[in-house]
Amino acid sequence: MRHKTIIEPFRIKTVEPIKMNSEEERCRLLREAHYNPFLLNSDDVIIDFLTDSGTSAMSAEQWGGMQIGDESYAGSRSWKRMEKAVRNLTGMDYILPTHQGRAAERILYSTIGGPGKVFVSNTHFDTTRANIEFREAEAIDLPTPFAKDMSSDYPFKGNIDLDQLSKTIDEKGVDNIAGIIMTVTNNSGGGQPVSMENLKQVRKICDSYNIPLILDCCRVAENSYFIKHREKEYNDYAYEEIAKKIFELSDAAIMSSKKDALVNMGGFLALRNMKLAQECTNLLIITEGFTTYGGLSGRDMEALAIGLKEVFEPAYLDYRIKSTEYLGRKLHELGVPIMLPVGGHAVYIDAKKLYSHIPVFEYPGQVLVCELYKLGGIRTVEIGSVMFGKYEDDHKLIPAPYELVRLAIPRRVYTQSHIEYVIETFEEILRRRKETIGLRIIEEPKFLRHFTAKFERLPYNNKIAEESGLE
Ligand SMILES: *Cc1c(COP(=O)(O)O)cnc(C)c1O
Repeated sequence: MRHKTIIEPFRIKTVEPIKMNSEEERCRLLREAHYNPFLLNSDDVIIDFLTDSGTSAMSAEQWGGMQIGDESYAGSRSWKRMEKAVRNLTGMDYILPTHQGRAAERILYSTIGGPGKVFVSNTHFDTTRANIEFREAEAIDLPTPFAKDMSSDYPFKGNIDLDQLSKTIDEKGVDNIAGIIMTVTNNSGGGQPVSMENLKQVRKICDSYNIPLILDCCRVAENSYFIKHREKEYNDYAYEEIAKKIFELSDAAIMSSKKDALVNMGGFLALRNMKLAQECTNLLIITEGFTTYGGLSGRDMEALAIGLKEVFEPAYLDYRIKSTEYLGRKLHELGVPIMLPVGGHAVYIDAKKLYSHIPVFEYPGQVLVCELYKLGGIRTVEIGSVMFGKYEDDHKLIPAPYELVRLAIPRRVYTQSHIEYVIETFEEILRRRKETIGLRIIEEPKFLRHFTAKFERLPYNNKIAEESGLE
């Protein structure tokens, strides 16, 4: 029997009502939020695809674990469970709990980084780069050139460019290289996976130069799924076995457990080197907490230990990736330009292509973000010139290379019918494509403007806007 519908491999035990609203109400709310959905109240959002970070639904077993969490300051039973789970997965001896991923990054990169040091990565995530640069070290991204072509179906667009990697090490001087950071999957690069082959080659380079390999393993389970299904040699491996092989190649690992550990808060730093672990532990105690809780409650650690197991269950992981892939494929079939292949945790829309009549300085990505909210109550985020654009001296926009909109899918939160609803909303987006108009920034902060910038619809388009019911 062939199953066509992707069914969630879980039943729902607790529900959280969604406050439904009309297009008319959403138009008003959007105006009041100055066309920046970051400024909306979450209660006014029907489907929240802003991020997959910390938004997972926990299982009944995890909630059960919360009840038996041991809140002792030292030697907590829940810490022992978390430590065992992380040690078992990573194979590393020294495990430091932290309140989230960036805390682990701050501890590690302020210990091994600093002025004159260089980190090289397939792509540094924003907080990774920020923590490295904050200590005045340099962060260099070397994504594979295959990642540039958004419409090719190259299976491992998360890979690092190996030729450039060797060149960069020689250019910068091997003694200045503090580490090679492999982000799996590559979050900033579209949730694209890294192949085992690429990781093995990186390991070889690390060995020949004696440089540590650091794994940013937020989505290591999702990456393992892609390795199993796209790299022949690994077809018969269990997902967890593949993840363990990835860790085996690494000297250190950082995790934001708000992603693949299926919890709402938490993280860790795992290390093989005792001396480095001691230095990092000193920092941990000063800023996060004692070694047996870091920044976490006992109940958080309990849930994390359980989540790290659940995420590798084939029924869960198959459904997770297939459901994301289904959304991407349906949009692609409708003619919505998306980044291919579909990544693990999100679908990325090419808004520059979708709204080819809207110039980049009228922010086509932000326009799509607003349309999705207006037509469907769906909240997403622009990853384009609002987020990364800069200005020339005469205030002319230097646009970002891409105008993308990210639909990040929270884990175990929305059902297949929610996904169908999102697809239907895109059908409406396409119908209204031609009459959709641009935006202009009226107020913005100096840094990270995407969070708080305010926009207005372009005045010369008011008439069209009225006619199409936009304003
Ligand atoms: C989320 C994330 C981080 C930072 O983790 P936080 O828990 O948000 O501090 C680091 N790296 C990657 C790849 C991430 O996705």
